[in-house]
Amino acid sequence: MFEICRKIEESKRPAVTKVFMKIEHLGIAVKSLETSDRLFSRLLGKEFYKQEAVEREGVTTSFYEVGESKIELLEATNAESPISKFIDKKGEGIHHIAFGVENIAFEIERLKKEGFMFISEEPKEGADNKLVVFLHPKSTNGVLVELCQEKP
Ligand code: ZN
Repeated sequence: MFEICRKIEESKRPAVTKVFMKIEHLGIAVKSLETSDRLFSRLLGKEFYKQEAVEREGVTTSFYEVGESKIELLEATNAESPISKFIDKKGEGIHHIAFGVENIAFEIERLKKEGFMFISEEPKEGADNKLVVFLHPKSTNGVLVELCQEKP
């Protein structure tokens, strides 16, 4: 009986073949996009392909393509921004690692069952046409992990 119930439960799950598809981008906290855009365009040999403000998060971002992945530079737009707080505490540098996923709701459930903590369990609209959610660094070895899914 238990076996049958479990099979039915599993069949309700969305058909997900890939889990974490790739490192979608690395987020880097910077004090000044103007200064860091100059630096990264010299480093990568190309200009950013997109600059975008995410008001809710208090950030402006620049995105650079690097092969299959991207670099996201993040500058705070106000003192309450998570990026301001990060730079105050740790200085400029790598802020988060973002994994591209096929089905963010499925991954949230899967990782909750695995005991991971989230900063917020509700996916939000992020930059670059994505739904995003962040795992709490306390449960991921001090690394802020973002999951992102292309908006349907
Ligand atoms: Zn990001």
